[in-house]
Amino acid sequence: MAPATLKTRFAPSPTGLLHLGNVRTALFNYLLARHGGGVFLLRIEDTDATRGEERYERALQEDLRWLGLEWDEGPGRDGGRGPYRQSERQALYQTHFDTLIQRGLAYPCFCTEHELKLARKAQLSAGRPPRYSGRCYGLDPETVRAYRAEGRPATLRFHVPEEAQVRFEDRVRGPQQFSGADMGDFVIRRSDGTPAFFFSNAVDDALMGVSLVLRGEDHLSNTPRQILLLQALGLPVPEYAHMALVVAADGAPLSKRHGSRTVQELREAGFLPGAVVNYLARLGHTYESNAWMPLEALARDFAMDRLHRSPARFDMAQLRHWQKEAVLHGDEDNLWSWMAAARPGDGCRIQDWVPEAARRDFVRTVRDNLTLPGDACVWARRLYAETPDYSHEARQVMAEAGAGFFQAALECLGPGAEDFREYCRAVGERARVKGKALYMPLRAALTGQTTGPEMARLWALLGTERVRRRLQAGVDQLAA
Ligand code: GLU
Repeated sequence: MAPATLKTRFAPSPTGLLHLGNVRTALFNYLLARHGGGVFLLRIEDTDATRGEERYERALQEDLRWLGLEWDEGPGRDGGRGPYRQSERQALYQTHFDTLIQRGLAYPCFCTEHELKLARKAQLSAGRPPRYSGRCYGLDPETVRAYRAEGRPATLRFHVPEEAQVRFEDRVRGPQQFSGADMGDFVIRRSDGTPAFFFSNAVDDALMGVSLVLRGEDHLSNTPRQILLLQALGLPVPEYAHMALVVAADGAPLSKRHGSRTVQELREAGFLPGAVVNYLARLGHTYESNAWMPLEALARDFAMDRLHRSPARFDMAQLRHWQKEAVLHGDEDNLWSWMAAARPGDGCRIQDWVPEAARRDFVRTVRDNLTLPGDACVWARRLYAETPDYSHEARQVMAEAGAGFFQAALECLGPGAEDFREYCRAVGERARVKGKALYMPLRAALTGQTTGPEMARLWALLGTERVRRRLQAGVDQLAA
């Protein structure tokens, strides 16, 4: 029976920066906890091998906070079940090793790496799955003492009876069954005294009261061993759910070459947290609605039974779609800061172009046309530079309209031209054009482009004087 309080967790090993695949695991656990009114726990799985990598721990905490995935319990948020870094829990693991030894369920193994390798090879060439032979199981105490006295290094193995059967219901993949004969006795403590990953991971889940372990399916085969360990220790066994991994568009493991990015890279490129969470929440999970949602709504509608069993394919175009959505839903002041923080390759700084008083209007005007913050600077330059940078299409459209059109457009400036629609009506009458032949040359001359933000809004931002100069430039270029 599931414990009363839902507690999920994210248990990263700080061996590198968070990338999209592992941050999706964090997000799903966060959403599940929020959905069920439960607790989201963060545990840092920093074993010996990763000690000294505090920068990765700091970075992952920063990434989670940036995405809005605040943990309820974990480093800096004591929930009474800490410490939350495995490097600080070594003594605890020791007591659990001792318990297993006392119960006769774990034993020292003196087999060397070389011996094990040879045995594995022999098994494989005989067509059998490699598993430990049990050679050191039942070594008499005398021999153990003698080996110890010789200073032979020993691992600690957990004994799995041949006839053991482990059955559990995976919340994503359904009923699972594993047999002890396939597992063999496995190492739970390395010869240097450090616990094996699945030992400390399982013990901590139990001691920290985690009720649901949702993780990548690469951990599915660890689960029966973890269940056996917890049962042997008399500790509660959580529910397990293993979700399909994220793969590249061609089905291959996600890699840099496939456009996989770290969260930090995405942040630096100008992706917004709302874009990343909306995208990831739909990567291997389906919502009824395709609309952009704030984190609370993503949690409200998150459902375990909508997790996919087949691998989710990473798609940059989808991420960019959600990025556009996030820009459309962003708060104007935040969007200004986002644009202002961008450092595009060309060194364009939006603050150098957009007058302070026009900032909000500028954001409102160009937001529909942005994906990344660098795009905003392009528009700032188009609007505020002395002459716009005309595209080839814009030049063509202007040439087709001819100098007479721009002359007429100039003559219509003045009182009554504040309203763009009124102005267009007047130009249309004077130049005897309508529709596209009216709007396109105006857009081309005023922005240098044939597409872009709504003209009525641009009109107000440009102001009459700049409009006059740009229309005059149209006349001058075409009359020349
Ligand atoms: N530290 C493990 C990892 O990063 C955690 C696996 C788990 O979620 O149980 O893969």
